[in-house]
Amino acid sequence: MTTLPAITSGIEQQLAGIQARIRAACIRAGRAPETVQLLLATKTVPPENIRIAVMAGVPLLGENKVQELKQKATALQDLPIAKHFIGHLQSNKVKEVLKYVTCIQSIDSLSIALALDKQLQATDRTLDIMVQVNTSFESSKFGVPPDQAPDFIRALKDFPQLRITGLMTIGLLDAAPEKARPSFRLLRDLRDQVIREQLLPTDTLHLSMGMSNDLEIAIEEGATIVRVGTAIFGKRQYPDSYYWNESQGG
Ligand SMILES: *Cc1c(COP(=O)(O)O)cnc(C)c1O
Repeated sequence: MTTLPAITSGIEQQLAGIQARIRAACIRAGRAPETVQLLLATKTVPPENIRIAVMAGVPLLGENKVQELKQKATALQDLPIAKHFIGHLQSNKVKEVLKYVTCIQSIDSLSIALALDKQLQATDRTLDIMVQVNTSFESSKFGVPPDQAPDFIRALKDFPQLRITGLMTIGLLDAAPEKARPSFRLLRDLRDQVIREQLLPTDTLHLSMGMSNDLEIAIEEGATIVRVGTAIFGKRQYPDSYYWNESQGG
């Protein structure tokens, strides 16, 4: 019997390329490739395309808008995936987002944390969260300023339903990925400080950092989760400012 060659979609090929980049960066940095998880950043990506990447072996995705989580939920419900929220969360979407995600990586306000904690208490549930830090000092991006992060983390301990599992950042965006290194280093230093000063009852924290253009730099600086969209799914129709601007939100 002859077997036909497998038809590999562009997405599968691009995914394989990203996995190879992650492996190579880990090896260069002297890290085990299993220490870095790939998160599919799926904003604007239709469910059929998400499915291809999940079936190719990636069990984690992140969305920026509650509306998109909702729209894609039914089409993806049979897939064994964890979903994280990685966008700007508005307080009127707190109840809704909890229907879809197991982690919110983008916590940068105590009022949102309070609203989440209340809602979680009502349903007797806990939630993993990460603290988003603005390591690039760009006002167009969300996140707590780095020097306020330790106090912010201390304050989050008042919310019993929230479990802090890591720190997240968007590095300085520049055509030269090396420009993001100080952002990533800042996040790693913060993580080390949190652990050294025992601000949390844990000695492990994720570093969610690195995207299509700068994941190698992030891995060199200690990323444990890289969030990749464009390099797997292709260019998006909307500019990122649509997702990252103050006026817009999830
Ligand atoms: C879109 C997005 C990503 C992925 O960015 P790409 O450059 O498309 O890889 C990662 N993190 C966040 C928070 C995003 O909004």
